Amino acid sequence: MTTNFPVFSRRTALKGIAATGLVAAGGFDLSIVTAGPASAMPSPGVISCADWGARPARWSSLPVVTSPATKILIHHTTDPNTTDYTRAHAIGLARQIQDFHMDGNGWPDTGQHFTNTRGGYVLEGRHGSLDALHDGHRMIEGAHCPGRNTDSIGIENEGLYTSATPTQAQWDSLVQLCAYVCQQYGISVDDIKGHRDYFATECPGNQLYSMLPKLREDVFAAIDRPGYHLRSTFNDNYVAAELGWTSPADMTTRYGMLRARTSGNPGIWETYTRIGLGDRKVAFRAYNGKYVSAELGWTSPADMTTRYGMLRARADKIGPWEQFTLEHHGSYTAYKAANGKYVSAEFGWTSPTDMTTRYGMLRARADRVDVWEKFAS
Ligand SMILES: [Zn+2]
Repeated sequence: MTTNFPVFSRRTALKGIAATGLVAAGGFDLSIVTAGPASAMPSPGVISCADWGARPARWSSLPVVTSPATKILIHHTTDPNTTDYTRAHAIGLARQIQDFHMDGNGWPDTGQHFTNTRGGYVLEGRHGSLDALHDGHRMIEGAHCPGRNTDSIGIENEGLYTSATPTQAQWDSLVQLCAYVCQQYGISVDDIKGHRDYFATECPGNQLYSMLPKLREDVFAAIDRPGYHLRSTFNDNYVAAELGWTSPADMTTRYGMLRARTSGNPGIWETYTRIGLGDRKVAFRAYNGKYVSAELGWTSPADMTTRYGMLRARADKIGPWEQFTLEHHGSYTAYKAANGKYVSAEFGWTSPTDMTTRYGMLRARADRVDVWEKFAS
């Protein structure tokens, strides 16, 4: 059996952690971190050590790092670029690597965390890597790059990529695996690196190394999907796009406002469609069919007590105010905006009349990241 990636379903919410920075006209810029619960996807799946019949590790317990991985390191195995794309071949490769690492190198187990074959099969390398990945809060110490074995997930890609390119199937499975790893550990796609970035080696080959920018973009796109949620870590509430104001005076519109107010399971008002615009620019469309704008300030009433900027689901089309730059920074890091402002999930109003609730409102106002500026799953 294979273990499915519990992500990327169009029908369910996602556990992805991401920070979005809004870049709008006039240099206005803000950020949000998005997250939602994990869910299941049907493919491509990872063939676990038990599934491919790995030998037991030499040690009864392999070292565990009790914090999330912060990088992905891409390798190539330098094996011949086979045209045997079968599952049986993939399992044979995993066994061959394990034998070499244990018997040849004297290591306790396979060095890398995952192996990705030219047939598009992903196999667990070192025992425990897959469970740790599903957990998302720990990783198994690897043996794939000196100095990076306690903070980086190593992915060995079958083949020699000095000049050849991976097969499409291998590329696709690599993208899916990286997307899941980024999501589970809160790794930025910018932290998908080549082995050579940290060690004197040709690995992963000039050709595959030159494809890493494309890999980052493809992984980013793989994470891009509908059913996005925002949750404040401070008040533990999901952000709702409310259709309109009820008071005072409904402001000048009824466009809908973003608030961090809904506890429990997010519903339709808390679910956004994230629309990729290329180059990591995205827009968010709310339940009312409007796009989320980051407005620079209030115009009434009395501009509240500030003009920090407010998020609203109001625009009929995607203009510069509705474009966000999406970055992945991990669960507890907010995005540093170009104008030095961060989005705060403020708990309540102070005026006028605290509206009808004190649920909390999102504003682009903070100069630094504090508890109010942190969002997570
Ligand atoms: Zn390598």
